[in-house]
Amino acid sequence: MPDFYYQIKGRELSAYGEVPGWAWPPIFSGLVTAPDRKQAKAQIEEEYSRQFPVRVLKKDIEQHAYLLHFKEVEPDNDYLLRRFRKTVCKECGTIFIPIDKYNDPHSDHQGLEYCSDRCSKEGRFREVQEFRLAHEGKLPPVIYQVRQKSTGRVYVGQSIRPFTLRWWEHLTYPSESKFHETLRATPITDWEFSVLEVVSVPDDCKSKAAYITDRERHWIDALNAVADGFNSVLPTGVSPQLSLIE
Ligand SMILES: [Zn+2]
Repeated sequence: MPDFYYQIKGRELSAYGEVPGWAWPPIFSGLVTAPDRKQAKAQIEEEYSRQFPVRVLKKDIEQHAYLLHFKEVEPDNDYLLRRFRKTVCKECGTIFIPIDKYNDPHSDHQGLEYCSDRCSKEGRFREVQEFRLAHEGKLPPVIYQVRQKSTGRVYVGQSIRPFTLRWWEHLTYPSESKFHETLRATPITDWEFSVLEVVSVPDDCKSKAAYITDRERHWIDALNAVADGFNSVLPTGVSPQLSLIE
């Protein structure tokens, strides 16, 4: 069944004698799932217990306080659909749905990556600091493991950011992978986090990212983290380590 994206627009206040238009931003933006346009409209109207015009002539605008605008959303329209998905704030780990911020007139921030203006500013500041530290060699990439003590099963990952941040993200990330599901379903005391390797990328390496991924693959393989652990896949598409160095 298709999704329909809708916006309820309110008539703007206008100076005396001027014809008003529709105010921006809309009063509310939402998503409904319905078999066709007609039923999508009916569903929206039921939710608000009122009817909305979808077209208003300029000469009639004074008679209408609201206008409904809606359109079918293609399933691959990620630009629009990601506003309706649970998102983890890149800075504080809070889970938010971006569209809620659009609909909140008091919200100070509307981006897709951070929950608030404060997190956005702090996140950008930290990124600049991380970049500087990485540039000075003080923030080396690492391969880390998250190990379940009761079973010995591990998840192996890589990070070019402070590694504690990755752990925090795993703990709060709303995915349905076997790793995240088990992590959420068991007490935190059953888990330990550690760094397996501080990756030092050779200066003459052609691709830093491929080199780090190659080290990650080495550890996933060595600890059998796909068959016995929590990794879903062994990273592929990486040239053997030697061919990365000129
Ligand atoms: Zn945040």
